[in-house]
Amino acid sequence: MKLKRPQHEAPDDAAARKALKPVVAYPPETLPTPLLDAQPEVYRQAKAEWQLVSEVLVPAREAKTFRVPAGHFFRIRSVEGPQVGDLNLWNEHELSERFFTGKTRALHGTHLSTGDRMWSNFPHLRPMATITEDTLDWYGFDSFGGSVHDVIGTRCDPYTNKLLKGDDYHYCCHSNLCRALAEHVKKPIAEIEHLVHDVLNVFMCTGFDRQTGQYFMKHTPVRPGDYLEFFAEIDLLGALSACPGGACDSEHSSDQATCHPLLVEIFKPRGRGDDPLPGWESPKVSAYEGSHGLSTST
Ligand SMILES: [Zn+2]
Repeated sequence: MKLKRPQHEAPDDAAARKALKPVVAYPPETLPTPLLDAQPEVYRQAKAEWQLVSEVLVPAREAKTFRVPAGHFFRIRSVEGPQVGDLNLWNEHELSERFFTGKTRALHGTHLSTGDRMWSNFPHLRPMATITEDTLDWYGFDSFGGSVHDVIGTRCDPYTNKLLKGDDYHYCCHSNLCRALAEHVKKPIAEIEHLVHDVLNVFMCTGFDRQTGQYFMKHTPVRPGDYLEFFAEIDLLGALSACPGGACDSEHSSDQATCHPLLVEIFKPRGRGDDPLPGWESPKVSAYEGSHGLSTST
């Protein structure tokens, strides 16, 4: 892609304007302190005594749903070979409450890791899950500006593929997530497609080109045994797609890439039920009163 050439002369004070220092838009210290920061020992204790209660193997180029009760943990684990996964989360009891990548990105950054929370859409805006461990946290940002687990790439889908390549491909993450959700709720795709949303790109290595601003991907650093671990803040329905892009180093939206399954493991802390994690409460939906300034009186 060619650099976009400006059509307007820079003003005399252009350098001074560009030299102004940025400020963090949403200082994270103004967010409610996550229990993981305030009392990390609560999580350590819960994990030391947890019990694996179920596993879901997501086949290559497919998606599967899974349920995680509030107060449980889940891990997405690399098995067999390098593979990226596209994750959707819903409130299990009300599927219109779902993961909101845009606000999560604004609050925590383009890529998520330990301590970051996955927020739900308006009018709910509450943490759905907290990331409690990331075996790829050593990666940070590479010299290209790439990092792991982004909330910028939406998901591969058959519509963009049709636009760019002209063919119909049915195993993009969007379609995989649609089929998995339709099967879970036992409804036709047409009735549930709007519930499938922008994803957390688990294990995917991505960034923006500093010259052109273009979204890029590169081979994931994940290896079998690596995992990303979450604490469920509310009762969750999840869906994970093992992306047809595989390691995402060349292309997706085709059967060309080598792909591998992904494993989802769900863990129950000991004593959950009678004795939830000390100090933890499932977060409530936003306390905003909801009028948006429109008077309800007549
Ligand atoms: Zn994909």
